[in-house]
Amino acid sequence: MIMIFKRWKLYLTILFILIFFFSLQQFKLVEKIFESDPLADKTIVIDPGHGGIDGGTSYNNLLEKDLNLEVGLKLRELLEARDNLTVIMTRNEDTALDHLNQYSRSRHQRDLMARIDIVNQEKVDLFISLHVDARTGQPEMQGPTVLYYPRHRENQKLAEILQKYLNQIDYPNFNPPSHQARQRDFYILKAKNTPGVIVELGFITNHLNRKLLQQDSYQQALAKAIYEGVEEYFSSFSFLTGSF
Ligand SMILES: [Zn+2]
Repeated sequence: MIMIFKRWKLYLTILFILIFFFSLQQFKLVEKIFESDPLADKTIVIDPGHGGIDGGTSYNNLLEKDLNLEVGLKLRELLEARDNLTVIMTRNEDTALDHLNQYSRSRHQRDLMARIDIVNQEKVDLFISLHVDARTGQPEMQGPTVLYYPRHRENQKLAEILQKYLNQIDYPNFNPPSHQARQRDFYILKAKNTPGVIVELGFITNHLNRKLLQQDSYQQALAKAIYEGVEEYFSSFSFLTGSF
């Protein structure tokens, strides 16, 4: 009798252990479903403005096109470290894009149209165009700013989130005023199929901005702020938050 009781006790213990591990597996499965990666399966276009013959704005030998590309490549690296995410660069070297489009006599227009063609591709979820601002008469203007056009309802939301992260950049000896995302009607911002923004990385006409924009660590801080903003933007569409 004692032997049977002991055996039952053993069976019962094994049964409880099995139930415990089964429940744990189920819980993990549910947790995985609810915590799905907001960036999974997304396709993001990074568009470093200008390139090749088109240097963009400049200050002495410092050219906007180079700064845009340097930050763009850093942003690509951060995004590509995530699983199941596709990054498309409109350019990853010092080249213009006008040869990719033939529907305008203007070289500049062909370049912009080629970028729009890339942005408007099927399955692209978001584009970020990178530029550097200039205010010749206002050398005190500084700090990154985000520009959007309300063609898609998501554009303002994306712009405000990115601006928030860019305003929060914590960098030694740099405290630019907090900017607000601004509405502009630039050609690239009117992309038909895809939400997106322009990030002006700073002002080339400002002494401190000029210095920082050439620093690897500041470029990295800009890329990280944009990356974190993109992450929050996609997280806000989660069905759990109900803010779709
Ligand atoms: Zn530009």
